[in-house]
Amino acid sequence: MNVLVINCGSSSLKYQLMNMQEETLLAKGLVERIGIEGSVLKHEKEGREKEVILVPMKNHKDALNEVLKALVDENYGAVKSLDEIDAVGHRVVHAGEKYSGSVLITEDVKAALEECIDLAPLHNPPNIMGIEAIQELIPSVPNVGVFDTAFHQTMPPQAYIYPIPYEYYEKYKVRRYGFHGTSHRYVAERAADMMGKPISELKLISCHLGNGASVTAIKNGISVATSMGFTPLEGLIMGTRCGDIDPAIITFLMEKENLDIEGINNVLNKKSGVLGISGVSSDFRDIENAAKDGNKRAALALETFDDRVRQYIAAYAAEMGGVDAVIFTAGLGENSISNRADICKNLEFMGLKVSDERNNVRGKEAFINSDDSKVKVLVIPTNEELMIARDTVEIVNSL
Ligand code: ADP
Repeated sequence: MNVLVINCGSSSLKYQLMNMQEETLLAKGLVERIGIEGSVLKHEKEGREKEVILVPMKNHKDALNEVLKALVDENYGAVKSLDEIDAVGHRVVHAGEKYSGSVLITEDVKAALEECIDLAPLHNPPNIMGIEAIQELIPSVPNVGVFDTAFHQTMPPQAYIYPIPYEYYEKYKVRRYGFHGTSHRYVAERAADMMGKPISELKLISCHLGNGASVTAIKNGISVATSMGFTPLEGLIMGTRCGDIDPAIITFLMEKENLDIEGINNVLNKKSGVLGISGVSSDFRDIENAAKDGNKRAALALETFDDRVRQYIAAYAAEMGGVDAVIFTAGLGENSISNRADICKNLEFMGLKVSDERNNVRGKEAFINSDDSKVKVLVIPTNEELMIARDTVEIVNSL
């Protein structure tokens, strides 16, 4: 079965076509500047050079039309005809409290996702546009929705309720949802495989550290706590997002800086995080370089970031009554040797010790704990697309 995986952003779209018998990639690509002048499709058939296709694309339907054309192109296409695409898996950010797993997209599912637009105004609309475009372009192909929030729906009420008047939960569904669920689920399953133990017997803490970052406690295979909240703004310090702060800062700054709601949202989402502290960049590579050159604020940003990740790891270990393995994934987690080492220092009290030698690894699966560490420490490159494709196969096969 060939599965097309689609991840639609507001003006961009990523895709991968996979052969799921072999779990191999056939082609992948990225469309940028949808609806903006200079729309571009960068398409890459496995084993061939990247094609850069410049063509106006005024909306997601135009973009997906170009993607489908590229996939069947006689020179750089990956299949002979669209009939060879058996199913489409869509990454959807928010499914609210409705779905705790992936589902076949029906009219009811679409309506439920539309109801969640309030909760994810930037993400759900382009996700829904992608689904509708595929339904129009290749109507006979089944579509499956895989939700970032779904994995965390297993959290117990004490892990998701906020200490504000309960009526806001009832009226507006203000609660913790958590995100990056597909990534946390993937690395947790890989970790169990690598450790040779059933996931149902493990206590895991997975640290997804990219531009967006979150930590999840996974006990016996299910998410029991996660650091992102009602929105992806809570929790860890991120590239440009503040993560946990005293909520009183918000009204204080609105008053002092004369900011309206859009203004303060912009500060907290786009100007904060390690960019805000360092003043250098939101990219950890730039900040690491600046810190090496003696920039104190860059060094402070890294320390503040690492401290918070460490605090969450310790808190979640306490919450689960122990931890068998800590997993690092996503851009920074997979690649930053120095941040991983710094995050793990001081965790020796709970039996977690990183080996400097083994930690000297980037972008591939590895155990990085020392032999005498009670807690395993793993680096696992995430693969959300594969997870989406696997869910899609499972659902389509059960039809
Ligand atoms: P997202 O998918 O959330 O945009 P990624 O998981 O791709 O993010 O992570 C991107 C981030 O990973 C970059 O901003 C960068 O800070 C960090 N990163 C990538 N490679 C390295 C590296 N070699 N060293 C340190 N940080 C890195």
